[in-house]
Amino acid sequence: MDFTIPDELSDLRASFATFLEREVRPLDEELQPEFWSRCPDQDRVAAAAALVARRSAEEGFFAAHMPESVGGQGLSTLGMTLLVEDAARSGMRLAMLAISPPNPSGPSPLLLALPEHLHDRYARPIVAAESTMCFALTEPEAGSDAQAIRTSAVKDGDGWRINGHKHYITNGDKADVAVVFAVTDPQRRAAGGITAFLVPSDQFRRGPVQWNISDTHPSELFFEDSWVPDDHVLGEVGAGFFLAMSFLNAGRAFIGAQALGLAEYCLDAAVAHAQQRTAFGRPIGKFQAVSFPLAESKCDIEAMRWLIYHLAWSVDAGENPMLDASIVKYYATEKAYTVADRTLQTFGGMGLLREGPIERILRHLRMLRVVEGASGIQQLVIARTLGL
Ligand SMILES: Cc1cc2nc3c(=O)[nH]c(=O)nc-3n(C[C@H](O)[C@H](O)[C@H](O)COP(=O)(O)OP(=O)(O)OC[C@H]3O[C@@H](n4cnc5c(N)ncnc54)[C@H](O)[C@@H]3O)c2cc1C
Repeated sequence: MDFTIPDELSDLRASFATFLEREVRPLDEELQPEFWSRCPDQDRVAAAAALVARRSAEEGFFAAHMPESVGGQGLSTLGMTLLVEDAARSGMRLAMLAISPPNPSGPSPLLLALPEHLHDRYARPIVAAESTMCFALTEPEAGSDAQAIRTSAVKDGDGWRINGHKHYITNGDKADVAVVFAVTDPQRRAAGGITAFLVPSDQFRRGPVQWNISDTHPSELFFEDSWVPDDHVLGEVGAGFFLAMSFLNAGRAFIGAQALGLAEYCLDAAVAHAQQRTAFGRPIGKFQAVSFPLAESKCDIEAMRWLIYHLAWSVDAGENPMLDASIVKYYATEKAYTVADRTLQTFGGMGLLREGPIERILRHLRMLRVVEGASGIQQLVIARTLGL
């Protein structure tokens, strides 16, 4: 076994770090008051986010995992995992927008399931951060049990007519196109009866934004006799559920990397604070009650790191490791949340403040334990492999 990170990936990390410090940090610092504000100027934040994504795309980082044929770099899963980790570890909110691994709102390999003549029209602008997408699977009556969706698509002329209601859709309020999952054969559902469609935004109505404890605010989407032509089917008719599950499975390393980077940021911050804050005449880090939980965080982080890198390595080796992916999603998000919670405790009152360094991260990590397969669902998958 060779655990060395290849030199070319270390070089890539160094250039990404330079880009983040040079172009993203100044903007992130300028926007701090908006991030803490009770009524932030959402347009200003959105404009900064779009600028960061576009500049990162120009530098080749944003969607580096996508193939060169649509403007990406064909970067490995391990490479993209490391960049996501570094963006999260930087502690800058905007850094997370500079890198867009396969995730519900970012340039996704799902787009490559479109016929090739549509790649330039849809995939290229998304890879260049000139337009955005969303991934619309969840419905009010179908979350964890995704095969229970009710949105339907029926054949109509040279295309499909879609009706249904999606909710909790990240970037639904802005997306130019939506990847929408709909039932095309109610008898077969997950076994060949669900199809994925690419639906341009002029064919759906956006509902209200769904504000929640995290800073990711999804939206409702309504499909009311929406129509798309036949060539807007992704992959084969009936293969949509398989596409959705393989997409979510492939994204686990990146959710893990995000959790890992945020946990590392938390531990860095906790250690610095424990060294500098004094109580009872000494730095609080000299009290075992403060230092031992941070030692535990270090162990959790190293365990997370190697699970995640191993998953990325297996994906690059051509495997589709369902069990490892579920273990990473479950373990990394749960442990990172615990690391953030310990960090908050180290900071005392400052840990609870909006303008402090931790509370936003705790909220974000709380969200990661629910989305893209809640922890209970990952435990279900893991338990099944034990024959339970
Ligand atoms: C901020 C945010 C962004 C999101 N973005 C998107 C998006 O872009 N696209 C999209 O399609 N969806 C998105 N979602 C939806 C998300 O994936 C779902 O919320 C998630 O899958 C859980 O579904 P649910 O909320 O309906 O919970 P439920 O399915 O009702 O589950 C509730 C609880 O029951 C548990 N549970 C349910 N069934 C079982 C079981 N069989 N065994 C053990 N435990 C079980 C779950 O683990 C969970 O803890 C987003 C959600 C949020 C909050």
